[in-house]
Amino acid sequence: MQCPKHGTMRSIPAGVSKKTGKPYPAFYVCTEESCTYRPEKSEVNKFEKNLDQEIVQERIDKRIGEKDTHIARAVALNDATALLAPNAMHYVALNSLDALRDEVLKTADRFYTWLTNGGK
Ligand SMILES: [Zn+2]
Repeated sequence: MQCPKHGTMRSIPAGVSKKTGKPYPAFYVCTEESCTYRPEKSEVNKFEKNLDQEIVQERIDKRIGEKDTHIARAVALNDATALLAPNAMHYVALNSLDALRDEVLKTADRFYTWLTNGGK
């Protein structure tokens, strides 16, 4: 919410008046103490609606980011497995499957770093 004269406003949460004992709804005041500007209800509604939409969009963006991360991790693991498949019998022969798993995961991490850096 913006004051046309001073800019930034802050929101005062709903509460109960100490003076009158009556409840009051949340409202906005200018950060400039002497300012008497109070936004119209329609303006506040519009501002809060936009704010809600921004929050929703932020959540969507975050979800897309998380999904991309999961996909990149899956691709990296797949590539690492394919790359190291020819070595698998070597590890089996040495009875060291833990070492094979460690090598696959280490390689997957390197693939993941490569993928998330745009292939650089
Ligand atoms: Zn003001």
